[in-house]
Amino acid sequence: MQPLPNFDLILFGGTGDLALRKLLPALYRRMVAGQLSADSRIIGVARSEISREEYLAQVETSCKAHVGGEFDAKQWARFSGQLTYFKIDANVEGDFKAFAESFNGREKCERAFFLSTAPDLFAPICEGLARNNLVTSCSRVVLEKPLGHDRASSALINERVGAIFTEQQIFRIDHYLGKETVQNLLALRFGNMLFEPLWKRGRIQHVQITVAENLGVERRAGFYDQTGALRDMVQNHLLQLLCIIAMEPPQSGNPDAMRDEKLKVLRALRPMSGREVLAKTVRGQYKSGAVNGAPVVGYLAEKDVPAGSSTETFVALKCEIDSWRWAGVPFYLRTGKRLQEKLSEIAITFEDIPLSIYERPDKPHSLNRLVIQLQPDESITLSVLAKNPGEGMFLKPVSLGLDFSETFKTRMLDAYERLLTDVIKGNLTLFMRRDELDAAWQWIDPIREAWEQYGESPKSYTAGSWGPAAASALIGRDGFAWSNEL
Ligand code: NAP
Repeated sequence: MQPLPNFDLILFGGTGDLALRKLLPALYRRMVAGQLSADSRIIGVARSEISREEYLAQVETSCKAHVGGEFDAKQWARFSGQLTYFKIDANVEGDFKAFAESFNGREKCERAFFLSTAPDLFAPICEGLARNNLVTSCSRVVLEKPLGHDRASSALINERVGAIFTEQQIFRIDHYLGKETVQNLLALRFGNMLFEPLWKRGRIQHVQITVAENLGVERRAGFYDQTGALRDMVQNHLLQLLCIIAMEPPQSGNPDAMRDEKLKVLRALRPMSGREVLAKTVRGQYKSGAVNGAPVVGYLAEKDVPAGSSTETFVALKCEIDSWRWAGVPFYLRTGKRLQEKLSEIAITFEDIPLSIYERPDKPHSLNRLVIQLQPDESITLSVLAKNPGEGMFLKPVSLGLDFSETFKTRMLDAYERLLTDVIKGNLTLFMRRDELDAAWQWIDPIREAWEQYGESPKSYTAGSWGPAAASALIGRDGFAWSNEL
């Protein structure tokens, strides 16, 4: 691991869930790994009137909980020495003034403003920073999802932030791209010859992307009810995963080479509108049920969910990509809350052999499948048919597996560890460019509009199941089944 240059990381929303649960533990781990120089500073910022000591106590509790057995009192003493807190209300001009003074003499230091706040604060924060001369040529800004709630609102945020920071200074995070397995998928595709001749129509039958959570809306019901699964998950994480699978090999490792290829995929997604949306998508909302054997309430009974809300907590879609490589290969996407288990995976099913001369299981069990699992464990598995030991040629599926933690005998970096160090190094490869985001919204907006136009209310599903029956029918109509149904 290379040491990072001296930096000031300013964490807006420093007392929030994401900062305490993910960002600060990730920074602590990077310090333990020797990447943080002693002169670097991390500054938590929020409206709460708390002292530095109170803030450190909050962060320490959280780091202990999330770093677990690797937490070390000596390392914490070093880390906390570089951590401080500043009270700023993003909407109060005077608060930025005193803050600006704490940067005197540090103008040449890399400066990263991480905005872990609601998106309606992104522009006011950037404008407050600019008015107080806090944005230098070596500054950058990190924007958490969701970036707006539709194409127009996203464009407005990008416009206002873009008036202050150049595109090269804006890091739009999709933490799925920071996952080691997603980068391993890139390595598998573009570091090996093996799969490239097979990575296309005629060789791949269909692709499934599942991001299933067994949790409900937890403390975020207010936010979630305004958002729903389509905007919260599909517009960003699932479409980004689809891009990684479907993109052409980039011409180089340059960040824009990869982002150009992802953009081409988003632009080649066949648009859906009107009644076609109803045939190719399924909206769902969970009702009461049981998860891991414990009873749970339905979405409408969750705290802070408005009575009669029609927000979807599940969505499944059939997508098609109009390109020479992918024409005719369906991509099925699904995501939801309160599903049977926490599971994120990409399953790629290959076409059948033209002629079978041996006895083998019925389809689909006889088809080769490449499964890239991102959660709960990170692994890549290829299922092939092998001869069953004994007399005769009876074939059965066996797995060729790559379990990363087993193979490399090392802890996998959390996505935020990787992404935060990329921000400090200024590497934009794993961050979304403005035109990518715009293309994703352009594809998503008509789906939501059609749901509204035709009054498509979500179909209910029992918490702890795999979603509404209509999702099985969606893929079943094409003669396939979701991987958990095989
Ligand atoms: P959160 O727990 O509600 O935290 C929000 C933070 O913003 C708090 O530190 C809050 O502190 C601060 N804040 C609110 N109003 C402010 C203002 N006017 N000026 C300055 N600070 C202000 O939210 P979160 O879950 O951490 O999420 C933060 C962002 O990341 C959201 O956009 C969310 O959608 C996104 N995100 C979260 C997760 C996650 O796992 N939590 C995952 C992906 C994306 P004070 O109240 O003290 O000001």
